[in-house]
Amino acid sequence: MKKELLFMGPPASGKGTQTHRLAEETGLPHVDTGSLLRAAIKNKTEAGMIVKALIDKGQLAPIEIVARIIKERLMEEDCQNGFILDGFPRSLEQALALDEIKKEIDKDVDVDFKVINFEIPEDVLLERIVNRVSCPACGQIYNKKFTPPQKDGICDKCSTELTQRKDDTEEVAKTRFATYHKETEPLINFYEKRNELVALDAQGTSDEIYERIKEII
Ligand SMILES: [Zn+2]
Repeated sequence: MKKELLFMGPPASGKGTQTHRLAEETGLPHVDTGSLLRAAIKNKTEAGMIVKALIDKGQLAPIEIVARIIKERLMEEDCQNGFILDGFPRSLEQALALDEIKKEIDKDVDVDFKVINFEIPEDVLLERIVNRVSCPACGQIYNKKFTPPQKDGICDKCSTELTQRKDDTEEVAKTRFATYHKETEPLINFYEKRNELVALDAQGTSDEIYERIKEII
């Protein structure tokens, strides 16, 4: 059966880490919308050029174009047994567009479609975000409270001084959470009504969460 997984989760929920690991271990391609759009622009595809022109003008890419780029990706050979979709849909309108895409790509195939929703209290996420520091040289991420480097403020791997992202503040994080909730709440209801939503307890160690995901899928 074709396995289609849609991952949803707030900023700092650990969704990225889990998606990468699952993709690596199952062989299902990780279809990440942000990277897809950037690749379309870089490769100067027709859709990519349209998106670029709009972004350069400060506008958002229209849903038709984004949907087309995603559909083309999901039609590729490596997605025939399934995929992990990340970053799309982000709105109800996009969810309906995904329904249309699925009608075309899932003709005469048995599909197991699940929306996995990373659930984690906001105060836990906030603590992760405000304590997050990273190495500007090698990209290693630390948490001052939970996973500190051996030497305060210095990268274990390459001894570079760690820095904090400017937007990793409580204020910015709260704005991002508010936007996330406003965008995704309608989506959660939409998939819940169709019995396609699965709640994932996203608290715990990375391994614990991964085991829960494997049980779900
Ligand atoms: Zn480093």
